Amino acid sequence: MTAGAQAPGTGTRPGYPGERAYATATRVFNLAAPARPAAAVTVTSVAEVRRALDHARAEGMGVRVHTTGHASAAVAPPTGALLLRTRFGDPVTVDAAARVARVPAGATWGDVVPAAAEHGLAAAHGSSALVGAVGYLLGGGVSFYGRRAGLAVNTVRAVELVTADGAHRRVDASSEPELFWALRGGGGGFGVVTAVEIELFPAAEVVTGAAFWPAAQAPELLARWLSWTRGAPEEAATSLRILHFPADAPLPPSLRGGPLVCVDGAVLAAESRDAGRARTIAADLLRPLRAVAEPVLDTWRPGPAAAVLSAHMDAPEPLPFRGDHLLLRDVDGDAAAAFLRLAGEGSGSPLVLAGFRQLGGAFARPAPGGGALTHVDARFAYLGSGAPFGGVTEDDLRDHCTAMRAALTPWDSGWTIPSLVEDAARPQRHLDVPAARAVHRVRTSTDPDGLFTGDIARGARTPL
Ligand SMILES: Cc1cc2nc3c(=O)[nH]c(=O)nc-3n(C[C@H](O)[C@H](O)[C@H](O)COP(=O)(O)OP(=O)(O)OC[C@H]3O[C@@H](n4cnc5c(N)ncnc54)[C@H](O)[C@@H]3O)c2cc1C
Repeated sequence: MTAGAQAPGTGTRPGYPGERAYATATRVFNLAAPARPAAAVTVTSVAEVRRALDHARAEGMGVRVHTTGHASAAVAPPTGALLLRTRFGDPVTVDAAARVARVPAGATWGDVVPAAAEHGLAAAHGSSALVGAVGYLLGGGVSFYGRRAGLAVNTVRAVELVTADGAHRRVDASSEPELFWALRGGGGGFGVVTAVEIELFPAAEVVTGAAFWPAAQAPELLARWLSWTRGAPEEAATSLRILHFPADAPLPPSLRGGPLVCVDGAVLAAESRDAGRARTIAADLLRPLRAVAEPVLDTWRPGPAAAVLSAHMDAPEPLPFRGDHLLLRDVDGDAAAAFLRLAGEGSGSPLVLAGFRQLGGAFARPAPGGGALTHVDARFAYLGSGAPFGGVTEDDLRDHCTAMRAALTPWDSGWTIPSLVEDAARPQRHLDVPAARAVHRVRTSTDPDGLFTGDIARGARTPL
């Protein structure tokens, strides 16, 4: 079949370069890694997925899947493949009694969080309303609720997907336990997920927000924050980042004028009776930090669970970014000093943001009945990323990421979480050899011809 001809038995024809359907289906959030597959189609139903798979087979193309393209730099480019953008139109539904939400592929956390909040419930969602729920969940999912809830992937109760044979399956712990296990953190490449069912939990109130100080205060703030993390209750999860915003960034006036340190996160009060405790935990976190210096902006306050989606102040629009991620066994005084030398005030860092997400708690415990990725044995996730503009080049960013990796080597666990990986070219690993082998066996029985091979995360490709 030639490019542009109708796929066998289809009404929705994949688009080719230059066509509008191609432009729509290849939109990505990370503009530094545009998707340039051979063909692309937006799928909104199981029937359309099946037609697309038929088309890929007829054309001899592999199949890649995405939703928002937040991870477009974190996965191998979809060269030569048919790229499916999943955008199922059915609404997020919540069974409040069972505390389960059914989330169609294409839904973002901005769709899920308000639907759950109507029932006083929350999901183990990420920091951005724009991130796709399915991609985040399949890749692990690090939530500000995660020190209580664990990796978000293990809150998945069922996965609906179209596999390479065209079958639409609903996979859960009792129907297809091996596939269900492998889907949860196995690194992808099993098919096109059309919906997931996820566990929700009560969230009566959340103390959330972000406090900012001039970066000159970073050494003392980082020391105090690290000290607080050592005994922090599991209701709380936070991050500390150094921010170098571009001069023309659309920011409140108080955040202009130089690099900043930001401490943000959330403290969960599951029931109303826990609200006092959550406020005390937040006060214990913030009191020693506010004592270092008055923040230039401080938005921490009690509020509804939905407010957690805006605390981290993630980018509201697609933009180009390049970065890196490591899982650190610990961050001690020497690690903090090494980090500040490369990211602190006067370092000349080209990164817009660099810092640590607090792990531990339920993140570090194997989830009972969990999937291929049950937990992470690390106290902190390092994340750093920048934008190749305003005089900063891709080489500047790459060189800085390399230097930061070298500086943090003594604390680097050697593991990564797929949802936090920023750059497909950097070393990544999230499965040990027995788990990678077990996932590989499930994958080859589900997709014997390797239609979805290009969709496998590099961190799951442990040598077999
Ligand atoms: C601003 C920002 C904030 C973020 N915050 C967090 C955070 O707090 N915690 C965290 O853990 N991560 C976070 N991330 C990372 C984010 O979770 C990952 O980039 C995630 O992969 C995004 O999923 P997506 O579907 O939106 O992205 P996409 O790039 O569309 O998809 C990523 C991958 O998911 C798979 N996938 C997506 N849809 C389907 C489908 N329907 N069927 C099968 N496979 C599919 C594919 O393998 C695809 O390559 C953030 C990223 C950004 C840019």
